[in-house]
Amino acid sequence: MNDRREFLKLSVAGTAALVTGCTPRSTKEEIPGVMDRDPMTTGGAIVISTWAHGMTANAKAWSVLDQGGSVLDAVEHGVRVVESDFGNRSVGLGGTPDRDGFVTLDACIQDHDGRAGAVAFLQRFENPISVARAVMERTPHVMLVGIGAERWAIENGFDRKEIEIPEVRKAWQEWLVESEYRPVVNIENHDTIGMVAMDANGRMAGSCTTSGMGYKIHGRVGDSPIIGAGLFVDGDVGAACATGVGELVIRTAGSHTVVELMRQGVEPVDACRETVLRILKKNPELEEMQVGFLALRKDGAHGAWAIYEGFDRAVRTEQGEELVPSGFERTWVRGR
Ligand code: ASP
Repeated sequence: MNDRREFLKLSVAGTAALVTGCTPRSTKEEIPGVMDRDPMTTGGAIVISTWAHGMTANAKAWSVLDQGGSVLDAVEHGVRVVESDFGNRSVGLGGTPDRDGFVTLDACIQDHDGRAGAVAFLQRFENPISVARAVMERTPHVMLVGIGAERWAIENGFDRKEIEIPEVRKAWQEWLVESEYRPVVNIENHDTIGMVAMDANGRMAGSCTTSGMGYKIHGRVGDSPIIGAGLFVDGDVGAACATGVGELVIRTAGSHTVVELMRQGVEPVDACRETVLRILKKNPELEEMQVGFLALRKDGAHGAWAIYEGFDRAVRTEQGEELVPSGFERTWVRGR
């Protein structure tokens, strides 16, 4: 194994009793329903998300929990921060476009009891994760896609966001020169935000949102909105989410595989690693394609593993926040 630091696990459930300090209360923001609830203790709660942009997302999710929001509120509002950051080139409307120059968005959300909602191939909405949650809560379905999803979103009170981001257009025009579809390890055409969380009462939820692989074929949908691939939550066991080349994750039902391994008693980090190894075994020719999984078990233990080095997860607990490097199978030499 390449990274011993991976085994530094935060056993939040075990250490929470030692914590006497209080998290400073953050400024309240409009989150439907949250203002009416009693603040709850965050002791034992944990929020984990993919990549460095997970730090700001976690901070938001934590403040939602701190204000008495549910864990579902937390994972929704946490990733919204990244979706609404139009400077982010891999999530939301600032994301990398497809090969025809359109930014198309995928997202899903799942609660402790396995209820789920998803949208895919959605254009011109700032917060697909909230549309996904509404699909879960207001329809008998799990997933809506494309024009149907957009029409339904408008009918249900979501506004279109007509925004032209010059950097997105410029990147696409530059890409057109060679028009080569080539996923690159750990750079901005290759991210997602996936978040898994547990509140102080042990309730879990997860969310996942992305603009998908840069310069994909128009209409391509990745793993991120697919329950069991980009995200899977089973409150009886734990939760997992994925980042990286979605096709590889879908073929292995990646996040579901991680959770099922944990159900069989495999440690979170080993469940992530085993799933990565399955991908490598089935695709021996695989070069320069990243996939990373992160897992949270219901006792607060967590872990992550990736094909290539460089996949970090942001972890927020009552003890503070940190960016933890995941273990990996292969080292990456930039520019080789
Ligand atoms: N998993 C996303 C997708 O395949 C992209 C990524 O995480 O980089 O669309």
